[in-house]
Amino acid sequence: MHGLCPLSAALGAANIAAMLAAATSLVLGLWARALDLVFPPRCVSCGAFGAFLCAACLAAAPPAAPPRCPVCWMPSEGPDSLCSRCPSRRFHFEAARSPFIYDGAAREAVHALKYRGLSALAGPMARPMADCLRQWAPPAGVIVPVPLAGPRRRLRGYNQSELLAREVSRLTGLPLAPRALVRRRSTPPQARIADEAARQANVVGAFAPGPATLHGGVLLIDDVLTSGATLDACAHVLREASAGPVFALTFARED
Ligand SMILES: [Zn+2]
Ligand SMILES: [Zn+2]
Repeated sequence: MHGLCPLSAALGAANIAAMLAAATSLVLGLWARALDLVFPPRCVSCGAFGAFLCAACLAAAPPAAPPRCPVCWMPSEGPDSLCSRCPSRRFHFEAARSPFIYDGAAREAVHALKYRGLSALAGPMARPMADCLRQWAPPAGVIVPVPLAGPRRRLRGYNQSELLAREVSRLTGLPLAPRALVRRRSTPPQARIADEAARQANVVGAFAPGPATLHGGVLLIDDVLTSGATLDACAHVLREASAGPVFALTFARED
């Protein structure tokens, strides 16, 4: 025992921890492969085996192609012209982007991620989001997911926006601040509310700043942009907390 200095004891502990981590990831990898054999991944859109969202369906998903409003990414007359709505409204976020329109395979992917527990879809869904982000390159230093209220998160087992945010962070190297925003209360899903004013009222006071303090610009991530009310409420809280300019990236947007 005499020869074991605190440093070598610490190195020994670190080695054991590294070996345990390697063994755990090996077991998890084998388990994932075993699950793939029993439940092979099937495309959520066409049902083909091999991937949760096959390359053909992803390629056929309707792109949110320009010309679009530089602020809200709604279709517009020309590349730099605002949509018909943006001149008379002001969001707390600077601009939003989405690679897809919320339709076809893009809609099916969102539904499967949100309501069918297919968390493995976050990887393939985040790739076009990361491509969109690289092209856009907004001045944001950190990624923040739109938080999900506790009861809904427990029921689903995860927050789909956080899974997408994690994957986008991994693919782009932009750091993730998963606890920069918290949800104070559960609200009825925005999709069930038709009227835009009611959607805004639905999320008023729903979010609060979390323990992490941010500066220098934020990229908010969510699965779908509908009226923009949820992203606007989140951006409002972040602006009040002096996080700097806020930008928003979603997998799909409703046109
Ligand atoms: Zn497919
Ligand atoms: Zn607009």
